[in-house]
Amino acid sequence: MSTFIRPSGLDAPVWMRGTARHEAGYIHLEEPRPYSIFDNEPSLVFDFADVKDVNGCVAFASERGLLTHGDPHPGGELREPVTEWLAQAEKMRRLLQLWHGVRTAILTSDITILKNVWDEHLEPAPAATTDDELVMESRWEIEMELNSGLRNVKTRVAADWRWEDGAPLNADGWFGYVTEPQTLLDSLYHQLSMVIVQRIEARSCLNCGRPFLPADTRQRYCSPTCSSRSRYKRFAEKRQRESVDAVDAGDARL
Ligand SMILES: [Zn+2]
Repeated sequence: MSTFIRPSGLDAPVWMRGTARHEAGYIHLEEPRPYSIFDNEPSLVFDFADVKDVNGCVAFASERGLLTHGDPHPGGELREPVTEWLAQAEKMRRLLQLWHGVRTAILTSDITILKNVWDEHLEPAPAATTDDELVMESRWEIEMELNSGLRNVKTRVAADWRWEDGAPLNADGWFGYVTEPQTLLDSLYHQLSMVIVQRIEARSCLNCGRPFLPADTRQRYCSPTCSSRSRYKRFAEKRQRESVDAVDAGDARL
């Protein structure tokens, strides 16, 4: 059973997306049209965490809309400052790194990743004096940030409950527990929480280090691009080794 939010057909929140563009420090949305933010996939969290510049903001907003401005009803301006976007994406990136660090520490007792995340990106320095304390403090940090991201997510019970996939439609007598993010940013935090609570295994790409959700257990790279880049790198290294070996062999004959 998938716990990713698939609410019943009752007033599932819609969000606006359209053509995004950058102007004077703002991401603007044009020709907005509604879509359901519940169609978002968990991997979207990882895509958002990868947004590092204006082009990334525009690409993401064109695909999924603005972060907190996109409710079709209240109207108002459909624009958000780039600085806000980059800050939010960085926050999510740090959370994913922290989580990856905690998982690594728990599974392998290696706290190097965790230490790096704190040293490089987080304030204030942790008060922890032992490895175990650092792991605990990191978990509290994750808890705090997730709860802060979830503070506007509404929950309710629905009597008219139907699963989209995997379980009965029109199951009379069933009740559902429905979670309703109010904005795209809410939805990202909800999905990240689900990934963490359900311990869905994320991986670090062997080529670029970016965290991603593997589609199957063999996937080692975040994208086909990284996979082929890595293949090319290995090929180039092998060729270089062979040519060095050939030169060495030549030297030996002299
Ligand atoms: Zn990669």
